[in-house]
Amino acid sequence: NNRQPTLLVTGGAGFIGSNFITYFLNKYPEQQLINFDKLTYAGLTNNLNEVENLDTYHFIKGDIADEKAVNEVFTSFDILGVINFAAESHVDRSIQNPKAFIETNVLGTNVLLQAARNTWEKQGVLTNRRFHQISTDEIYGSLGATGKFHEYTLYDPRNPYSASKAGANLLVKSFGHTYGMDVVISSSSNNFGPKQHSEKLIPTIISKALELKPIPIYGDGKHIRDWLYVMDHCRALELIFHHGKTLETYNIGGGNERTNVELAMEVCEILDLLKPEIKSEVAIESFKDLITFTVDRQGHDRRYAVDDTKLRQTLGWKPDITFKSGLYQTVDWYAEQWNNITL
Ligand code: NAD
Repeated sequence: NNRQPTLLVTGGAGFIGSNFITYFLNKYPEQQLINFDKLTYAGLTNNLNEVENLDTYHFIKGDIADEKAVNEVFTSFDILGVINFAAESHVDRSIQNPKAFIETNVLGTNVLLQAARNTWEKQGVLTNRRFHQISTDEIYGSLGATGKFHEYTLYDPRNPYSASKAGANLLVKSFGHTYGMDVVISSSSNNFGPKQHSEKLIPTIISKALELKPIPIYGDGKHIRDWLYVMDHCRALELIFHHGKTLETYNIGGGNERTNVELAMEVCEILDLLKPEIKSEVAIESFKDLITFTVDRQGHDRRYAVDDTKLRQTLGWKPDITFKSGLYQTVDWYAEQWNNITL
């Protein structure tokens, strides 16, 4: 029945979206949900193995910047809310070619907002339906040795990816102010966990180590990121979508600041325990011996750290999983995938 209230999740075949959908449909087994995803290089339907056979899960392949396709979703289904994960998400690719980032992250968000607004206005439900924009702490720019990003920190994006995400947030806010739409934004720090694309830092460290190849770390390796376990992020998103205040932003951090080289060392220590047989193929004592420093990323932000007091105090969120155990589970998951590929 197409007229059952249905949640529209975009970009749900990617890393965070697929973890979110799996979590959400397990928790709310009655909830109808559409995953609308273009299946770019970053989208994998395999990421949804655990839910693809559920009657409540529906996949539609489409581009959020394609007005016709997006409008069709809104006219064919009773969309009770939107959670927009869909994005071009890799900073290095945005430095090479910003165009796709503007098309998806800015124009695509605009198409979704317009379709939601037009449909909900016609149905007389504009203020009862929520548009939740998934954003990043990278919009705030780069920090020195101290301080954290707050929700009121001015946007200061430093690369085309973060600029496009900042632009999207401004559009989302404008739809809230101008048309009275119920919009909410969440800005999270770097996520880690299963199902992340192989191009990102932690999967790269693991795959290079297991291939016994140099593990590339940009510059001096002292860039700091605040790591958030993806399942803790998903629980925060559920709370914000259901209980966050309209037109507000919520920062989500992990409280786990690590330099990139510290992180690489921790991943290697876990691999030393999980995969001693690979390490012993060559004469190295630890996978750490494979860490090498490469030419720095252009405009590489030095430090990100997120203050998420607002989320903790107003919505009662806190991370469930310690950094250590989240990292162990993550490395274990990739090592398992590695076994499956190489068997
Ligand atoms: P990802 O690259 O793993 O997944 C992105 C998904 O969006 C893919 O499935 C892709 O096919 C889809 N997509 C891309 N362009 C599309 C389009 N035009 N139309 C429809 N679908 C499209 O990204 P991720 O790491 O899961 O990030 C999800 C969201 O969270 C993004 O908005 C990102 O900016 C944000 N975010 C990510 C992190 C992180 O650490 N990964 C941190 C903070 C915020």
